[in-house]
Amino acid sequence: MAMPASASLKALLAHVVRGGVVALDALLPPSCLTCEAEVEAQGSVCAACFGTLSFVSAPCCFRCGVPLPFAGAGTLGEGGELCPGCAARLPAYAQARAALRYDDGAKKLVLPFKHLDRTELAAPLARHMARAGAALLARADLLAPVPLHWRRLLARRYNQSALLAARLARGAGLPHVPDLLRRLKPTPPLGERNAADRAAAVAGAFAVPRRHLARLAGKRVLLVDDVLTSGATTEECARTLLAAGAAAVDVLAAARVPDPRLQRSFG
Ligand SMILES: [Zn+2]
Ligand SMILES: [Zn+2]
Repeated sequence: MAMPASASLKALLAHVVRGGVVALDALLPPSCLTCEAEVEAQGSVCAACFGTLSFVSAPCCFRCGVPLPFAGAGTLGEGGELCPGCAARLPAYAQARAALRYDDGAKKLVLPFKHLDRTELAAPLARHMARAGAALLARADLLAPVPLHWRRLLARRYNQSALLAARLARGAGLPHVPDLLRRLKPTPPLGERNAADRAAAVAGAFAVPRRHLARLAGKRVLLVDDVLTSGATTEECARTLLAAGAAAVDVLAAARVPDPRLQRSFG
């Protein structure tokens, strides 16, 4: 089929631009994704920037993955140690894990990725996530991102969580269903609210489109998010997926905000 003239011109231009980038990459030494330092390989961060990243490591809550200050600090529950939040009320999802603590080091990767069109940062973030979520990826049937409301998607032009989910799915050889969940209403920032208000703000915010119900039935979903904060959004997404027929839901995020109450209460 013949392409309209404008489309073929666009394709040609894209080709030329891509060719130019490749040529430039071959001439210049690659630089760190978050600073100007030279690095060995394209798409990586330098040793100094890597050193500012703090990875979430054991001990952490068996269910929600929040870091615990020391082994034995949680309550022993089914599967492992639980944080006070999960001990009081188990989440709807089976397990949530995140690669990085959401501190200044992680923000250097996450904020430009989310807000400044630096979509190439999906690569290093997904690499860290694949490591942190190896067990979750191994048991997943399909991956889906936490969706943006369409108005936000129009403004930002991409769903950062979907870019991460696409890379993770490709790496694991699993299907990715970017529109498995729809966000029906925009949700206000949840940061300053208490747990009950946060849950109320996201209640009924998501839905599974009818056309995906058959594909979801009895499947284990790995829900992908960029930053886990209170967990209210992922909890509501998990409930929606389970109500629509998913067998189980796990959550994998690039970064998570450590629970300040937890850090304090444990000293
Ligand atoms: Zn650097
Ligand atoms: Zn927990």
